[in-house]
Amino acid sequence: MSYYQSNQNNRFSNRNRNNNYGSRKKRSFGQYIDPSKFIRVAKPVKNEEYVPENNFSDFEVNVLISNNLQKMGYVSPSPIQDKTIPVALTGKDVVGIANTGTGKTAAFLIPVINKLMNDRSSRALILAPTRELAEQIEEQTRDIAKGSGLLGALLIGGVSMQPQLRDLRSNPQIIIGTPGRVKDHIERRTLKINDTNVVVLDEVDRMLDMGFIDDITEILNQTSSDRQSFFFSATMEGKVKTHIDNFSNNPVNIMVKTGDTSENVHQNVVHYITKDEKLEKLHDILTSEDTAKTLIFDDTHRNVEKLNDELINRGFKSDAIHGGKSQAQRQRALKKFKDSHVKVLVATDVAARGIDVSDITHVVNFSVPQSYDDYVHRIGRAGRAGRVGHALTFIEKRY
Ligand code: AMP
Repeated sequence: MSYYQSNQNNRFSNRNRNNNYGSRKKRSFGQYIDPSKFIRVAKPVKNEEYVPENNFSDFEVNVLISNNLQKMGYVSPSPIQDKTIPVALTGKDVVGIANTGTGKTAAFLIPVINKLMNDRSSRALILAPTRELAEQIEEQTRDIAKGSGLLGALLIGGVSMQPQLRDLRSNPQIIIGTPGRVKDHIERRTLKINDTNVVVLDEVDRMLDMGFIDDITEILNQTSSDRQSFFFSATMEGKVKTHIDNFSNNPVNIMVKTGDTSENVHQNVVHYITKDEKLEKLHDILTSEDTAKTLIFDDTHRNVEKLNDELINRGFKSDAIHGGKSQAQRQRALKKFKDSHVKVLVATDVAARGIDVSDITHVVNFSVPQSYDDYVHRIGRAGRAGRVGHALTFIEKRY
């Protein structure tokens, strides 16, 4: 069965149990961050100033793809799409410096799907650091490739192998997954990638942060040597550049000045002395007029659960995601948050990576992040799509 035809199968109904997703945490001790770094007035970036050089109709892609983009409401290319797609269609390797929210997913999916449609013997492998991100990529793949008859498999951890094995038996052209599970399948010989001639590594910086470098190296070494590769990363600093240099072949570097997402976010701190006061202050934030959708970060599974229970007891529509929950539970919570059935989502850092919910108005750091890097990632969840967001960080006042 083809999952890029309109009849979607129910492969995802069987998600379950035993995820070890939270175990790849990069550090156990936090660094000291000067609280003054949590205070800043937003200087919104005016995204609308960008004038694309191309229209979607200028790209020489299969008409089915153009029609699907139209149906998806994509009117004009985002900067990363405008610059990446023409280069990628020539078959060159691409290194894109872009973060989530820039439209980078379609920037690689459009040329990748086009290549697979032109040559049905081509095979693509798309790797992402988190299950959530892999799922979001897969959702967009379904939309962009709808009706193409291409076959795909989503290979992520924390869920049953059976549906994945079933999908793999039909020799899919597109594999989307997280490095751990993809490697698992290769080792079990349920996935062969020696004829994979298109590779995408999304959020390379995050994948390295999460310790996936060995898995990635092993996987890439098995793909075709004349492959076309795409690399996307929010930064090109240090090791990221070295690894990308090793994996790529004379790539075209595309840097799109999107501005730091945090430029769009009003940042401030909230002082508290007692735990009760902390909760009351959070309650006030959640009931204030301009708070529409809030992502709250806390440090441990237990604290996330406790805070979520407390908020529900107080009458808030809230849910929680963390690594101790099954993938199915996390998906349900994320969907409720996306569809605005709950207005508050309490999360740990790892579980919240890659979340793309465009209408989050507030990010609340109920616990101080482990590093400034984590802080920037957290607050980047607000202030999406050109909107101004708010980030509030709770700081304990000691006397
Ligand atoms: P990404 O950065 O790939 O995670 O995309 C962020 C969001 O922007 C997703 O919800 C996409 O569906 C949406 N998007 C991407 N490209 C376009 C476009 N050209 N026009 C409108 N929306 C887009």
